[in-house]
Amino acid sequence: MFKLKTHTAVMAIAAVVLLPLLLWQTAVWTERVALRRVAEQAASTLALYATGLQEAVSKYEALPRLLARDPTLADLLRNPDDPARRDRINRALEEVNAIAGTADTYLLDRGGLTLAASNWNGPTPFVGRNYSYRPYFQQAIRGRLGRYVALGTASGKRGYYFAYPVRDRGGARLGAITVKVLLEPLEAAWPGTPDRMIATDSVGVILMSSRDDWRYRTLAPLSPDELSRIKAQQQYTGASLAPLPITLRRAFGAGAERVALTEEAAPASTTGGGETFLLQSFPLQDIGLTVWSLSPVRQVRGAVTQAMVLAAFGFLIVIGLTWIWLQRRQAIRERFETDERHKAELEGEVAARTRALQTVNADLRAEVAERQKTERELRETQAELVQAAKMAALGQLSAGIGHELNQPLGAIRSYADNAKVLLQRDRLPEVESNLTQISGITARMAEIIRRLKTFARKPSHEAEAVCLRGAVDDALALMGSRIDGERIEIAMPAEDARVLADPVRLQQTLVNLIGNALDAMAETEAPCLRFVAETRGDQVALQVIDSGPGIAEAARDHVFDPFYTTKEPGQGLGLGLSISYNILRDLGGSLSARNRPEGGACFTLTLPRAEPAGASARGGDGADLGPPPREAVR
Ligand code: ADP
Repeated sequence: MFKLKTHTAVMAIAAVVLLPLLLWQTAVWTERVALRRVAEQAASTLALYATGLQEAVSKYEALPRLLARDPTLADLLRNPDDPARRDRINRALEEVNAIAGTADTYLLDRGGLTLAASNWNGPTPFVGRNYSYRPYFQQAIRGRLGRYVALGTASGKRGYYFAYPVRDRGGARLGAITVKVLLEPLEAAWPGTPDRMIATDSVGVILMSSRDDWRYRTLAPLSPDELSRIKAQQQYTGASLAPLPITLRRAFGAGAERVALTEEAAPASTTGGGETFLLQSFPLQDIGLTVWSLSPVRQVRGAVTQAMVLAAFGFLIVIGLTWIWLQRRQAIRERFETDERHKAELEGEVAARTRALQTVNADLRAEVAERQKTERELRETQAELVQAAKMAALGQLSAGIGHELNQPLGAIRSYADNAKVLLQRDRLPEVESNLTQISGITARMAEIIRRLKTFARKPSHEAEAVCLRGAVDDALALMGSRIDGERIEIAMPAEDARVLADPVRLQQTLVNLIGNALDAMAETEAPCLRFVAETRGDQVALQVIDSGPGIAEAARDHVFDPFYTTKEPGQGLGLGLSISYNILRDLGGSLSARNRPEGGACFTLTLPRAEPAGASARGGDGADLGPPPREAVR
């Protein structure tokens, strides 16, 4: 906006400063060109007029010389007083004058006295007048062709005079024959032109003029000598000979000058301090005259004005176009700058966002690392918890296990005591039978210990194909004496249903579920624990159903929460179901609980199905060993 204003101001200043300069220069140049054209035109007109005048005057030049050859003139000059001769010459001159079309033709004697004249019969006859003061006479009497221009003293008319000496046979000059040509008709023949035409004599007196009031005035003031000479010669008797009121003369090209005439001599139509003319001259050496043309300068004003209007118009167009161009250029530059600014802003924004994103990214990465660390710690904690829960379960189991081991130990002792007695009695076959019983009992004890070892082992985290039935049997075996007296039903249509699991953790889960069921059925009259397995697509589901009172209403939503228990302190940690739930989820399975309408709780675990039996998969420990004889375990 600021620049726009600057442009406008610059353009305005340029217009204000340059326009007058341009107009002035245009005016000067156009005037010069137009004046040159005017000068050329005037020069050709002037040449035409001047040569016309010269021809018109010069054609009479030979006439006096021709007349001088007439012997009758010399005869009269020798006999000036003879009236008959005079009369004859008067008439002859009158005739010649009429034929030649000259103003006057007259004969002067040696003293300048007129002896005969063509106007002898006219109102102002020259006869008897003396013209010895006229230069033409003086030139002629000296033997040369006399030329002169003057205002006639008798006629008062402007005339051009030619005079030639009249000689006798011996060549002596007896007088002069003179011819006067009137200038007035020649002047009248000058047709009207816009240019003023004048003709001056050798000293600058205007003899002929297209303006009457300029006649007998001078182009420059005459010197006193000139004035007295003119007076003596009676050249322009009665004329003022005042100079034209030329106030300024300035050269204009070759042979021309500009002159300014004041009001006095200028036409009435002009205004101001006078009129300016272009003055050109054409000297006519032969006849001693100079023809001048004065072309009014004002005639070029129209052209100058026109050129100035055109120049102003063109200048304003150029200024306008320049202004528009500057404006457009400014607009383009501003748009470019705005674009650049937007681009820079955008780039800045992108950089800022990138930085923010990088920060967020770094934060996220740190958070992820933190989470991974937490997860790792959690998993470790969980593993520790699992182990802790398992140890707790072991603690609970230890009583049963102790019982489990005490019973065979007692039996071994009985068999051994019996064997000692039988050995003393030398009843060897019975001793052998007792020893066989002892061997069988120790094998079962070893089996119990093996299962315990398996349970106590740290989980491997690696899934393998495990025989579900074997896992259930192992868990039941671990429960030992706790399930004595309970009715156990195992419904497994897919006898060798195999699941992908870590056998240790699966066993831990089953021990938890069985333990919970046994706890629930503690008060039940006819406790019954059932295992129902079925294949569901690529999963195997195992339901652990008890005949207890079912999950208490208040506990239903919390049974899988860690540390949630309804049991007496010391009876339960509230971790069993929570750990089992997580174990199954880790193994790609699930654990859910519900109460059965006919009573009792049903816990359903699912696990991914392993390849069918017979495949290369290794069975769980229980599977490898096969289910132990239930009676033996009890
Ligand atoms: P704990 O056995 O140490 O209490 P658990 O996580 O194994 O911890 O069990 C949480 C609770 O779920 C039990 O306290 C009990 O109230 C309920 N529960 C678990 N199993 C059964 C079941 N078979 N019948 C009824 N309630 C059950």
